[in-house]
Amino acid sequence: MTEKIICRAPFPYGEVHACSNLICYCSDFRFRRAIEKLERVLGIHLNCDGLQIPGSIKSVNDENGEGPVSGWIEVLHKLHGAKNIFIIAHAAKCGAYAESGIRFESEEDEQSFHEGELRKARGLIEGIILGARVRMIYARLSQNRRQVEFVEIA
Ligand SMILES: [Zn+2]
Repeated sequence: MTEKIICRAPFPYGEVHACSNLICYCSDFRFRRAIEKLERVLGIHLNCDGLQIPGSIKSVNDENGEGPVSGWIEVLHKLHGAKNIFIIAHAAKCGAYAESGIRFESEEDEQSFHEGELRKARGLIEGIILGARVRMIYARLSQNRRQVEFVEIA
């Protein structure tokens, strides 16, 4: 077998196996770069498990906190101990919801729907990870649609 190293990247962890944060977000390629920046702005980029799945917390809600995706959150918490959980929903027609036939009348309508989804998921995740501090973030587009604005939902 022949092999060739195609990339080297920093691994600053040594034997550290615990982290403080978990971020759950949608697989949608349009938001990946923006989320990397958000992680740096939050100061969690080197100390964060990432759960990237289609629709982000949609599956947690659909399975009412008792299915495979909720199980992954539980497993990551058991393995690495994160207590700060960031859950992100996004604008611009998340395909996972479109697939379920959900349509929005306006961007305001879309945001308010996702705020409801975030609140439901927060409740479920607090039931999965006791003592979790769940922060809800909505990723929407700026007026000129050239930037992502992350809004923390209180
Ligand atoms: Zn999506």
